Amino acid sequence: MNNNKGVRGQPIVLVVDDDMAERLLIVETLLENNLAVEEAEDGMEALEVFQRISPDLVLMDVKMPRMDGFTACAEMRKLPSGIDTAIVLVTGLDDIASILHAFDAGATDFMTKPVNWPLLNHRVRYLLRAGEIFRNLRQSEQRLSVAQKIARLGNWDWDFEKDTVYCSRQMWTLCGLDPVEGRFSHEIFLQYVHPDEKEAVRTTIKKALEEKKPYRLEYRIQLADGAARIIHEQAEVEYDGNGAPVGMHGTVQDISERKQSEEKIRFLAYYDCLTGLPNRQLFTNYVGQALLTARRANSKVALLYLGIDRFKRINDTLGHCAGDELLIKIAARLSDSIRSSDIFGKLVLSKEPNISLSRLTGDEFTILLTGLFEGEHTLCVVQRILEALQTSFCIGGQEINVSGSMGISIFPGDADDVDMLLKNGDVAMSHAKQSGGNTFKFFAHEMHDRAVERLKLEIDLQKALERDEFVLFYQPQVDLHSGKIAGLEALIRWRHPELGLIAPLKFISIAEESGLILPIGAWVLNEACRQACIWQQTGMASIRMAVNISSYQFRQDGLVSMVKQALLNSGLLPSMLELEVTEGSIMQDIDKTIYTLSQLKEIGVTLSVDDFGTGYSSMNYLKRFLLDTLKIDRSFVMDITMDPNDAAIVTAIIALAGSLGLKTIAEGVETQEQLQFMRLHLCDEIQGFFISKPLPADEVERFLVPNLILC
Ligand code: C2E
Ligand code: MG
Ligand code: MG
Repeated sequence: MNNNKGVRGQPIVLVVDDDMAERLLIVETLLENNLAVEEAEDGMEALEVFQRISPDLVLMDVKMPRMDGFTACAEMRKLPSGIDTAIVLVTGLDDIASILHAFDAGATDFMTKPVNWPLLNHRVRYLLRAGEIFRNLRQSEQRLSVAQKIARLGNWDWDFEKDTVYCSRQMWTLCGLDPVEGRFSHEIFLQYVHPDEKEAVRTTIKKALEEKKPYRLEYRIQLADGAARIIHEQAEVEYDGNGAPVGMHGTVQDISERKQSEEKIRFLAYYDCLTGLPNRQLFTNYVGQALLTARRANSKVALLYLGIDRFKRINDTLGHCAGDELLIKIAARLSDSIRSSDIFGKLVLSKEPNISLSRLTGDEFTILLTGLFEGEHTLCVVQRILEALQTSFCIGGQEINVSGSMGISIFPGDADDVDMLLKNGDVAMSHAKQSGGNTFKFFAHEMHDRAVERLKLEIDLQKALERDEFVLFYQPQVDLHSGKIAGLEALIRWRHPELGLIAPLKFISIAEESGLILPIGAWVLNEACRQACIWQQTGMASIRMAVNISSYQFRQDGLVSMVKQALLNSGLLPSMLELEVTEGSIMQDIDKTIYTLSQLKEIGVTLSVDDFGTGYSSMNYLKRFLLDTLKIDRSFVMDITMDPNDAAIVTAIIALAGSLGLKTIAEGVETQEQLQFMRLHLCDEIQGFFISKPLPADEVERFLVPNLILC
């Protein structure tokens, strides 16, 4: 807009003419009419004045020296302030060629010479008013454009009679399209709509015309590079005085970002970020829906609840990043394995069940089978999944073997609602885990009672330590060469206030799962060391004390300092303490095992491998571990006199121990025959009911008489 007004705020007119007389006449006439006037005597000077004062109107002669009026007009139009200014060129009478030339040069209007003096002022006022209106219009267009840009809004209109559409510049911009100048047909307009949504747009417009109602619609605009923008359109029909539709007006808003955020929020709410699988929330919705359908259709729903065996151990050993990577790979493997046609390819089915996979938490996945299916179909899926997990995974260059335990709960029968179906699947899965893993269990109602019992034990276990409910029993270990007692194994018992004495096998696994094994283990170690020291100080046989270390404890960083502390607290000689670690715990994360064992060895304690033969030991590793003793598992000792296989295994273990320079202790020796076998095959020590059951401290003291020959 022109802000450069005359001294009293009047519009400024620039008069350009090389004929001084003519110029003065014009100037005088204009001044009489209260206009501010500036003068120039040729095109060149006019340009300079124009730039300086930005006049509202230019009255310019055509023929002038240095620069003529056409050139000056064209130059003024190129200036930013020259776009809107009214420029009137004064040409010779009836000079059609000049009039056309003036138009081409961008003149607003022309006047012919000689000037019609009485009309000049009216003409000028008229042009000034038109210029003002023009400027106002442009200004409001600019405002609208800025407002639309801020609101990411564009607009269009459609003239039905001519079938032409106009789109605002902002509309092109926000749709990410190159602007098409002028108007174009509605069919061309529709070309920009995503192919999948063209029909919806057409139908909506048709309906709006039929029902005479405005419409709102979201659809995608197809960009040249194949990407799409999502827009929200609002439009209404325009009618003439007779109520006939004549056109349509619409606004569009780019809502792509909002849609993306909504999508992201939806994803976060319903999907698991790590694996991209549906999460518990979405899964629960699926199950709810599936149960409704199954009720109506009288069909079944099977929920397969999968837990990865010993995942916590893998996670603790490899670290959380590797644990996450493993979960991602497991999820992908599971997705692959449940593609239904692959599974049911061999079965002739009228209709395949639907299968959907989700991740509930940590290492727990669920698979839902819906539709008509038989037990046989469920088993196909279960077997397929358990098999799929058995191929090893490569995580950070390391081969990891996993297995899964699966619980199956079925509607109707096992549960009536979503919660129950999930809970019973979980209970059945825990049973599969407890029975050694890599297997599946169908839910049975008794399982539920056992799960409740287990939960109760876990709650009581939390308080057992502070209530001092644990006691240690001791079982003698006898040296077969001398027949004298060589050591005692400390075995924990829980004196439950209501349930009486509880054996460790009933609560150790619960303690491990809840992490309580750490304070409990520390208590055992301290108590065993304390008791051993008392016996030594009271002059009883100076014997070794063996303490069991669970695999969970073995992997804790604090183990070594805990052992040191227990020795320090009690004053027991380190060589009098033996730690029993299980085969399973030392055969994982070999480097860490070597490190931990060497640190324990440095303290001076002895190390034995408990339940040897039940796990998988690599002879290579055994050689590298700093061990002292192998404890032959009771399961081999039990039938040794009847089962030649067991006899062969025990003989082999003793030979192996001999070649590695290790001592052997046979566990669970109950009979004279078993003892004889061990003696014959040069086993070093025995432990078992044949000598004594584990006994409370005061009762075991009768074995601690020095030089007492026991066998
Ligand atoms: P384990 O370390 O292999 O202990 C030997 C188990 O075999 C003991 O069972 C013992 O009572 C039993 N046993 C010994 N001789 C015979 C026999 O001649 N015949 C039969 N049938 N059984 C015999 P217990 O005390 O029930 O302990 C079971 C397991 O619980 C232990 O197996 C050990 O793994 C674990 N445990 C016991 N106390 C502790 C503890 O303080 N800490 C940890 N982490 N685990 C413990
Ligand atoms: Mg033991
Ligand atoms: Mg054992």
